Amino acid sequence: MPSASFQRCRRCVMDTSDPEIVFDSDGVCNHCHFHDQIRSRYILPAGEREKALEQRIRRVKAEGRGKKYDCIIGLSGGVDSSYIALKVKELGLRPLAVHMDGGWNSELAVSNIENIVDRLGIDLFTNVVEWDEMRDLQLSFFRSGVPNCDIPQDHAIIAVLLKAANAFGVRTIVRGLNIATESVLPQAWGYSAIDLRHIKAIHKKYGQVKLKTFPTCSILELAYYYAFKKITYYDILNNLEYDKDKAKELITAELGWRDYGGKHHESLFTKFFQSYYLVKKFGFDKRLAHYSSLVLAGSMTRDQALVALEKPPYDDDRMHLELNFVANKMEIEVVELERIIASPPRRHTEFPSYKSLLFSDWATRIRKFLK
Ligand SMILES: [Zn+2]
Repeated sequence: MPSASFQRCRRCVMDTSDPEIVFDSDGVCNHCHFHDQIRSRYILPAGEREKALEQRIRRVKAEGRGKKYDCIIGLSGGVDSSYIALKVKELGLRPLAVHMDGGWNSELAVSNIENIVDRLGIDLFTNVVEWDEMRDLQLSFFRSGVPNCDIPQDHAIIAVLLKAANAFGVRTIVRGLNIATESVLPQAWGYSAIDLRHIKAIHKKYGQVKLKTFPTCSILELAYYYAFKKITYYDILNNLEYDKDKAKELITAELGWRDYGGKHHESLFTKFFQSYYLVKKFGFDKRLAHYSSLVLAGSMTRDQALVALEKPPYDDDRMHLELNFVANKMEIEVVELERIIASPPRRHTEFPSYKSLLFSDWATRIRKFLK
């Protein structure tokens, strides 16, 4: 049962499980206010949006002249990246699809990726991460007790995308970050995946396997890619009419895409991590942030979100199987994984990082930019 100090935003569905949430006198939370701030800046009115899209695509094509590819797209097999693959082809771009295989792909994700590149005629570059290294790094994060145990996968994706862009002389990485479905993301629930110092600090303390080939990107490399090679990200979904359900229908019809159930569940690790680990160990239910983003974007009503939240974030029977699967895959006993989940949570700030130098996520970056 919620505690006496429990409070839920009266506009979205975020609540005091975000320890840093702040409410105004009307009971509306800081995430709603932040959404309003960035929405007016990043979501252009119809008409202007198409113009911005057209201009950017023209620029990407001009920069890609004489090269094999115009842009890099990350391809996970999920909704956002599959939809982007379809759209960039429709817009006449020549993308290179890049996939980071961290060893946790669901079968559906793999078949989605194969279908997409086949049907659209896109070249695919897959970086298969050395499993021993991925496993050791993920275990280090579990053992450290910090919330964001998806940092190893996320960091590898960022590094692989940037390295591919650099190798092929491509200036634009088209990504799926978007205000329509991801504007709410509590800072206290995690930490940025970009910070290699933080990753190394946790791995040094809890890891056992030397990282030899794991894809990484240091601050200096980042500076080189961004400032010297002028590699930029294009968050194309902000310039498109983006409704997740319609996008799903479209990619199902056009690309033979098949649904796997939840946001970011194309990775079996992420599925376990988001729908079980974070809830059980920290009380963080990512659905709150996701549904809140949808409510604020107008693609879900607050009542619909509240009804959806009545369902438990995971099914106890199925999770028992998943717990076994994850422990098995990570080559530890189930009791050890249970012990990790039951051990006291720790904060990312307890470990060295470049937090003061880097912004902790894209939202903070925008926030700082707006100041
Ligand atoms: Zn709110």
